[in-house]
Amino acid sequence: MDSGGIIAMLYMHLHARNGAIGRRRSAERAGGRPMERCGLCGVLLPGESVPNALVRDSSAFCAQDPARDGKRRVVACSPEHLTELIEMHARKPFMEAELWAGKIARVMDDDPRADVQALSESTGLTPSHVQRGLSWMRASRAGQQIPPAEPDPRPDDCD
Ligand SMILES: [Zn+2]
Repeated sequence: MDSGGIIAMLYMHLHARNGAIGRRRSAERAGGRPMERCGLCGVLLPGESVPNALVRDSSAFCAQDPARDGKRRVVACSPEHLTELIEMHARKPFMEAELWAGKIARVMDDDPRADVQALSESTGLTPSHVQRGLSWMRASRAGQQIPPAEPDPRPDDCD
């Protein structure tokens, strides 16, 4: 093989490697999570195409998109663990007041003095739902010593 052929091969080799790295980097920038853990056993997962599902969860809030509130993406090391995770979430009661409290908290982050009327307009909830969400917040603050039933390292996970 002449030197031109060898250089061409080397180039292709390098290009293939850099291409793969480039894709991984752009995935990280786009919000990809290369080091996720199985939601059940905690084993570290490869970043790409792990078994995952969207489950209903009243404690899940999406900072970017309120339409995704109440839905949590769970990832697992295997289809079996994914099934268990989905069943665990299905058994957990979905509390609408908790969901409403999350929507209220998001508005109050920007405007801590928002009243019920303003909260209702910003969240799209009825005033009575806002009241129930506020009650839920007060109750959960009062019980802050109780650790959450399910540790969640990424409360904002929502895709
Ligand atoms: Zn697992």
